[in-house]
Amino acid sequence: MKVQTLSADLRRGLRPRGFTGEIVEPGHAGYEAARRVWNGSIDRRPAAVLRCHDADDVAAAVVAAVDLGLPLAVRGGGHSVGGLSTVDDGIVVDLSAMRRVTVDAAARRALVAGGALLGDLDRATQEHGLAVPAGQVSHTGVAGLTLGGGVGYLMRAHGLTIDSLVAAEVVTAGGETVTASADEHPDLFWALRGGGGNFGVVTRFEFALHGVGPLVYAGPLVYPIERAAEVMRASRAVMAGAPDELSIHEILLTVPEHPPFPEHLQGKPALLLAPVHVGSEEQARADLEPLRELGPAFDLVGPMPYVVLQSMIDDDTRHGLGHYSKSHWLRGFDDGLIDTLVERFAQVSSPMSHVITARMGGAIERVPAGATAFAHRSAANLLWIIGLWDDPAADPEPHRAWVGDVFESARPYSTGGVYVNALEEEGPERVRAAYGAETFERLRRVKRDWDPDNVFSLNQNIPPA
Ligand code: FAD
Repeated sequence: MKVQTLSADLRRGLRPRGFTGEIVEPGHAGYEAARRVWNGSIDRRPAAVLRCHDADDVAAAVVAAVDLGLPLAVRGGGHSVGGLSTVDDGIVVDLSAMRRVTVDAAARRALVAGGALLGDLDRATQEHGLAVPAGQVSHTGVAGLTLGGGVGYLMRAHGLTIDSLVAAEVVTAGGETVTASADEHPDLFWALRGGGGNFGVVTRFEFALHGVGPLVYAGPLVYPIERAAEVMRASRAVMAGAPDELSIHEILLTVPEHPPFPEHLQGKPALLLAPVHVGSEEQARADLEPLRELGPAFDLVGPMPYVVLQSMIDDDTRHGLGHYSKSHWLRGFDDGLIDTLVERFAQVSSPMSHVITARMGGAIERVPAGATAFAHRSAANLLWIIGLWDDPAADPEPHRAWVGDVFESARPYSTGGVYVNALEEEGPERVRAAYGAETFERLRRVKRDWDPDNVFSLNQNIPPA
């Protein structure tokens, strides 16, 4: 189809349905920015980006794309590591203008538009000392993160992001707007909580809120790389007896060359522990004492505003970097795994790349296994190997090779599963592994009922049963 013809057909398709959004096509001044996603290695050219203002716009955009037989991508925050929210020669249904967050503090509920970012959610809820457990970078989209599960600093205390989801407003493949909750379309509600963007476009989330902060006890503890294996074991011991209020992310990294890190550590390989404690300060100090006794080279742990914590690594994970990552759910945090990770980190291919492990458990495990479509509640730990590099145009191969090497060396410790939101394009077997066999089959039946023609296929795709 010629571009001019498509453009006219698209406008004709959108007009009768009252589309009020913006049509951003090649040649439009905003096209270059609109087609970009977070992962700078992704370079796709959609036929049009349809920037929607409300659920009616989204419905009009979905129907127009289907009528024209064009591939359709849905963009929330644009952080899909595999670039799933954009597409060559297709339509991007872009929710980036839909970021409103409304908080009812008395009812402890938040209504969150489908294009909101974590920072929008955190800022609005923290005004009332409330929060939804979510991820760690404020420019990540609420939508994609939630639909895959949502892991972060509060998960052991308050569960995955989906565990706080009360209802969702969804535009279906047929352009209908429905509500999914425990009472309305419970099959769809089940599938949305872990099944990714397979079932429709979520235009609004309703979350239950938890009392958090505004101060939490958190910050980096940095140890030289020579002590990494010893400290990771110590962190494991602390977490074995830890209350749910404590989470620790262990991060093998090259110390960033900027404050607050002291100059003598900058550029050096190290282990950074990122503890977050949402209990009392006294309890936090006591729980973290064993790690302090080990004498970190840098200790910035103390009370800090939750919103500050939530944007602390924003710049180190900024838009436009080259990226490739892989992940395992782990059966445990064995000595063998710790030694392997430390050994393999020595070959890291970029100073921005890092390896993250985190203890799961706590509130995550207390939700029954089949209650949501998130199939990895009994995983002991998460491992995420993140390749990041400055110049997205640079040869990705050395970075892919390093990530792949760490991933393979950790495979013996894996449950065999992978976090949906950490999937790159890794093939149908890995998608099955992301959902687990039983959940996958159930998701296929829900997909058949809600999207039989697989209109929503640019995701960690579930073929209809
Ligand atoms: P998008 O790229 O916009 O979308 C991702 C997927 O969701 C696509 O398939 C898209 O079609 C679909 N989608 C988007 N919006 C909607 C919608 N409104 N309705 C239906 N489908 C939709 N994950 C964590 O759990 N915890 C973290 O701490 C964390 N940190 C991260 C930090 C960075 C810097 C990055 C890049 C990723 C991080 N992730 C984290 C992974 C993150 O959860 C996924 O990348 C997630 O997909 C991002 O959602 P998004 O809306 O920004 O992405």
